[in-house]
Amino acid sequence: MAEQESSEAERINYPARHGPFGSDNKYHVVCEKWKNYAIRSPYVKFMLESMKKLGCEVNIEKQLVCEPCSGKVLGGFDSRASQIVLCENTIYSPGCMKDVLTHELIHAYDHCRAHVDWLNIHHLACSEIRAANLSGDCFFWKENLARFNFGLKQHQQKCVKDRAVKSILCVMDVDENEARNAVDTVFDSCFADLDPFDRIPP
Ligand SMILES: [Zn+2]
Repeated sequence: MAEQESSEAERINYPARHGPFGSDNKYHVVCEKWKNYAIRSPYVKFMLESMKKLGCEVNIEKQLVCEPCSGKVLGGFDSRASQIVLCENTIYSPGCMKDVLTHELIHAYDHCRAHVDWLNIHHLACSEIRAANLSGDCFFWKENLARFNFGLKQHQQKCVKDRAVKSILCVMDVDENEARNAVDTVFDSCFADLDPFDRIPP
């Protein structure tokens, strides 16, 4: 996911399944296949179980949907519909599907847990920090820096901050300074908030 600009999507309002891609197109079929593979991963299962424990609706058919998206985005969380959108035209591997799903599940979990006001930049920043920290978004850094015994924590923090800023810029009409200020303001408490995990997942 390192090459991607962001994983956030403004949802395209294609009349469902009747846009340039139909439900029988190969991208949609592959997306469904990878989705069904991803929901069996221990990590995704744990997130879904944690949401059920909070009493949130978990309906995979209804809430995890493969759709075409605009631009280079990979996925998004539609809070009004309580749906996670998985972008069938940009998710390029099963591993990527799992990372996107995990990232968006953190948003879904936050939405269920805290009744997030997604128009409030500090609420949004907090969820983006948690999603970047707890999904695979910054694992590249971990893998590469774990070999050295220093700087790991700082790099994880920098990666999470940068990812969160980019994600905010994709879903909210603010400039980079505003986004970065919001991330800095809430960073410490949101970076430390690992719920529902005990530690940053390996
Ligand atoms: Zn996000």
